[in-house]
Amino acid sequence: MSTKADASMTTRVEFEPVIGLEVHVQLLTASKIFCSCSTRFGAPPNTNVCPVCLGMPGALPVLNRKAAEFGALAAMALNCRINETSIFARKNYFYPDLPKGYQISQYDRPLADHGYIEVPVNSGKKKIGITRVHLEEDAGKSLHEGFPDSDEKTAIDLNRTGVPLIEIVSEPEISSPEEAYEYLSRLKEIVLHTGVSDCSMEEGSLRCDANISVRPRGQKEFGTKTEIKNVNSFRFIRDALEYEIARQIDVIESGGTITQETRLYNANEGKTYGMRSKEQAHDYRYFPEPDLLPLVIDEKWRAAIERALPELPEARRARMVNEYGITEYDAQVLTVSKALADQFEEAAKLAKNPKRVANLVQSELMGRLKAKGIEIGQSPISMLGVAASADLVESGTISGKMLKDLYDLCFERGKDFPAVYDEEGRPRQSSDTTALEKIIDEVLAANPKQLEQYRAGKKTMLGFFVGQIMKASKGQASPQLVNELLAKKLG
Ligand code: ADP
Ligand code: MG
Ligand code: ZN
Repeated sequence: MSTKADASMTTRVEFEPVIGLEVHVQLLTASKIFCSCSTRFGAPPNTNVCPVCLGMPGALPVLNRKAAEFGALAAMALNCRINETSIFARKNYFYPDLPKGYQISQYDRPLADHGYIEVPVNSGKKKIGITRVHLEEDAGKSLHEGFPDSDEKTAIDLNRTGVPLIEIVSEPEISSPEEAYEYLSRLKEIVLHTGVSDCSMEEGSLRCDANISVRPRGQKEFGTKTEIKNVNSFRFIRDALEYEIARQIDVIESGGTITQETRLYNANEGKTYGMRSKEQAHDYRYFPEPDLLPLVIDEKWRAAIERALPELPEARRARMVNEYGITEYDAQVLTVSKALADQFEEAAKLAKNPKRVANLVQSELMGRLKAKGIEIGQSPISMLGVAASADLVESGTISGKMLKDLYDLCFERGKDFPAVYDEEGRPRQSSDTTALEKIIDEVLAANPKQLEQYRAGKKTMLGFFVGQIMKASKGQASPQLVNELLAKKLG
């Protein structure tokens, strides 16, 4: 009986991942953070620039008040403590798209700290700490493509230089790629609700660097981390982390060591590649920015910003479950964006049965939108249209089958539900009692066993019969009428 010894001989060291995320979010101010240039995306290259954001000697930055407010609002939504005084600092490094030779950021005294995001995990909810949220300016953009005559050229667009960002740095408390995915989804949802950013990964207004290390389970010290940069979707970040965990474990198990470095993810291959080692890149020689005053957000200003804080998704979901009698899951689907949640609530308040509105959005609307590749905001059927259709089903005026057909027509014609409902000349639903009675008789005759069970007291059989009758009528019967007639027949 030496199973114990055997087991320990074959047990290999088990590794656990440690993940920390750095997320940059672009703030939706009209002008840049330290000058009055426009932040508009997609302007011709190098047209939104001035001596300040080009870094001309002697040009002086002035802080955009709105950027500070937006940053603080997002930080509050992320449960952070706002520091009354925060300090801008110069982060020095050379890069062609950084004309000043330094980026204005915040260092040892950031705008906010001590926050957290709650993410769902198997066992319930987990708080992942946010170390800090600080303000900084974006750098320009190097374009390495689009030169047909030579691939050795790089063009620089400085429109983005000086666009306001917040950097949201998490504690190394994320313990799986799935958790990282959840953290990012929640973060985006929260920031979207505050309205301070559009969080578009395609346009670069949300960017994430993922730091990852592994350590033997139970060990206290962290392993050496690598940083994965420039991954452009949450799903790819999850995949890249998955790959990187396996790679690091492989290296360690085969006797190697992890080098601290920045790696790039190739989504086509599903692999990460070393880009540059981080050791030398590290000394930014931060020092306080001499051209800017400390940012002071006093109690009065802070309170004013706080008043602009909208209801956040988590609280909103809880309230919606309560108010409309919908499930947690319904609430989750309906709060993917603030716009959708707002529209739903508007419709739900008007509808007879809010739960049915929620169900229709999920079962009939979402799938059709997805098939068309459009967002809820572009839906031909508005939330009010959904509410109107829900009421018609609720009152038995149209059947579920007819609703489906009408929704299809709405999408074909690009028109809202009430319009198509009118065009189709109101219900074609059979309210022909004689025909329906005949169907009911047939169904009852065809199911003697079920009828017996019903008579013996199994009242749930009623649902079975209604289903069979609806099917036999090809969905054309009015459920209300079916119920009425059936009740009569069954006594
Ligand atoms: P750096 O100075 O290299 O940028 P920071 O200490 O600022 O490192 O941390 C950057 C991010 O990396 C943070 O999100 C942090 O939680 C995370 N992090 C730090 N150490 C580790 C580690 N050993 N493994 C995984 N993530 C880490
Ligand atoms: Mg860092
Ligand atoms: Zn400018």
